[in-house]
Amino acid sequence: MEHEYSRYSEGLIPPRTERIMEMEQYARDHRVPIMQLEGMEALLQILRVQRPARILEIGTAIGYSAIRMAEALPGTEVVTIEREPAMQEKAEENIGRSSAEGRIRLVRGDALELGEGLPEGPFDALFIDAAKGQYRRFFDLYEPLLSGRGVIYCDNMFMHGLAAEDPTDIPRKNRTMIRKLKAFTEWLMAHPGYDSALLPVGDGLMISTKKESTEEGAVL
Ligand code: SAH
Ligand code: MG
Repeated sequence: MEHEYSRYSEGLIPPRTERIMEMEQYARDHRVPIMQLEGMEALLQILRVQRPARILEIGTAIGYSAIRMAEALPGTEVVTIEREPAMQEKAEENIGRSSAEGRIRLVRGDALELGEGLPEGPFDALFIDAAKGQYRRFFDLYEPLLSGRGVIYCDNMFMHGLAAEDPTDIPRKNRTMIRKLKAFTEWLMAHPGYDSALLPVGDGLMISTKKESTEEGAVL
């Protein structure tokens, strides 16, 4: 979603450290779908307000968002899951060079098939940014690991704008995935246990808070 105001607000974002900008360049060069800058900055800012002690990320890729979250939140632990061996290697390398190295743990494997290797909760934030057709399965499996004041963040809810298009205009190969992503979005928006809002930043960022948590008044 490229808008005039997007270009404007992206131009206002200060430069990142050299290592971070190297990762951004690497992602562009190798077509790694890391979070768009504007969406990343918005997520970091919301996380600074939430102040989670532990974050679970599904979908590490080269470690960009995991490193940015850990560097933005001193003291926060980030556990991140990645299934592709080539990505795991690159992520380990990048994590090893990060100032937040000791607070980021990479779990190697398919998030839907970890079995006994499932990370131990509780987590205050769950960030879902992996296979777009599987969001409901990630939610069902990992939502129980959330703490009482847990917040769920989901990236790519617009799927590069495809989610808002007429289904017949969507390339055939993407249709099933988009249908599943939209069904998940509608399901989550209507979930009785969660309040959700879909923020039109980056590629669409959904933020869902447990309803109990607002009763405790402990989210912020
Ligand atoms: N969060 C990253 C980008 C992740 S891209 C960032 O913004 O920097 C999505 C990643 O999810 C890909 O690397 C892909 O290999 C991984 N992935 C997809 N399905 C997965 C699954 N079931 N388990 C673990 N990783 C998965
Ligand atoms: Mg993403």
